[in-house]
Amino acid sequence: MLKLYNTLSRTKEEFKPIEEGKVRMYSCGPTVYHYMHIGNLRTFFFEDILLRILRYNGYDVKYVMNITDVGHLVADSDEGDDKMEESAKQQGKTVWEVAEYYTNAFKNDVIRLNIFPPDLYTKATDYIQQQIDMVKCLEEKGYTYKTGDGIYYDTSKFPDYGKLARLDIKGLQEGARVEYSSEKKNITDFALWKFSPKNEQRQMEWESPWGMGFPGWHIECSAMSKAELGTHFDIHCSAVDHIPIHHTNEIAQSEACSGEKSVNYWVHGEHLDMGNDKMSKSLGNFVTLQMLIDKGYSAMDYRYFLLMAHYKKKLKFSFEAMDAAKSGLKNLKGKISKVIQESAGQNINNGINNSENFKNYKNRFLQSINDDLNMPEAMAVMWDMLKDENLTAAEKAGLALDFDKIFGLKLDEPVQENELTEIPKEIQELVNKRAEAKKNKDFKLSDEIRDQIKEKGFGILDKKDGVEIKKISL
Ligand code: AMP
Ligand code: ZN
Repeated sequence: MLKLYNTLSRTKEEFKPIEEGKVRMYSCGPTVYHYMHIGNLRTFFFEDILLRILRYNGYDVKYVMNITDVGHLVADSDEGDDKMEESAKQQGKTVWEVAEYYTNAFKNDVIRLNIFPPDLYTKATDYIQQQIDMVKCLEEKGYTYKTGDGIYYDTSKFPDYGKLARLDIKGLQEGARVEYSSEKKNITDFALWKFSPKNEQRQMEWESPWGMGFPGWHIECSAMSKAELGTHFDIHCSAVDHIPIHHTNEIAQSEACSGEKSVNYWVHGEHLDMGNDKMSKSLGNFVTLQMLIDKGYSAMDYRYFLLMAHYKKKLKFSFEAMDAAKSGLKNLKGKISKVIQESAGQNINNGINNSENFKNYKNRFLQSINDDLNMPEAMAVMWDMLKDENLTAAEKAGLALDFDKIFGLKLDEPVQENELTEIPKEIQELVNKRAEAKKNKDFKLSDEIRDQIKEKGFGILDKKDGVEIKKISL
């Protein structure tokens, strides 16, 4: 029996799908104006674990993720600059080019992290008509009003607005009185459709019953989930930052329009904590997967690092923790390749005719993953199992590869080259030359040498007492 923590009820609930044996699931995807940072990737990773667990339990899952390629506004408000148009301006590209470039970069991260892609990626710009239709529906039902810059949702009309986040609306209203000067009737009201600025042509704008403009951010998820999964579906995921605004507004839109409950289980992952300022693309202080790879970690090292924490717990990122993950994974893969070798020729692929002990481990594993995705516990089962002298090598190999259907660490692949090889002499010489340049404070030269080293497939990491050299796995 699978249990999931539902943000709606603030409790762990037994998962029951709407339609027997089938699950319809939606996740808020990336906003494609920049690379994903490793915090964003933690969220997509947790959603992947949930998807794998649902499938492991035998559910037939239809999984949809949106791509936000229409710019919403900096700081998630209804005012300020458009993130997509800003990024395009800075890079001298069109918004469409920016969206395509970062969508591809995101998909590449997904592949490298061995995240199962959704059955369908829905791009906001492909669903403009559905978004307009939903705003029309809300307008007909009396939930909207017009201001100088757009069509807004009147949140006071929706009973129970804020139920997901348990918002203290009165407190919010009072607290915000000072800066609360816009034409909004309530502090929580939000834009459904924004008018294009007069005398300025946006790169992304569409005709609508309210004039030329573009959709507000929240409407895309309501419209696309409805189009692809129906008005009532099973699971909606994302990270905790979306609870008070984005998902609160999605519920208000979807449920006001359809008149029924939209989602049964709201599942939210906690953030990755970078220790200093909140990692944000707008602040530009973020770490990407490529940066980790350039420093000599593999994408699987990062996946292993993420598996060490429960998805509902804040996780602090550090390079020390990444080092520990790297050696943990190397150790694990070493043990698994040994049992695979030892069991060569034997059937390791299933649990039929295996011992009681084998079945106990399989059950313990299933219980851990089904207990609201308890991956640290599931990993502890893996280690216990590998140490158990009462299991045969074939049983161990069979269990390890079965568990890896959830972990997704590619444990059947041989230990990577970069975990074994010596540093070539040519690279060592370049590293020495770079150290010399640094000593002479010739940073231009030292950077050039670093690039040469990178071109040859190695990353170097400056440490307190020297440099660490690692083969880059691309
Ligand atoms: P965005 O591209 O900004 O729409 O974000 C993509 C996803 O990353 C969303 O589900 C966010 O909730 C999530 N997210 C943003 N910051 C973090 C973080 N530091 N840790 C984990 N997830 C995050
Ligand atoms: Zn969304």
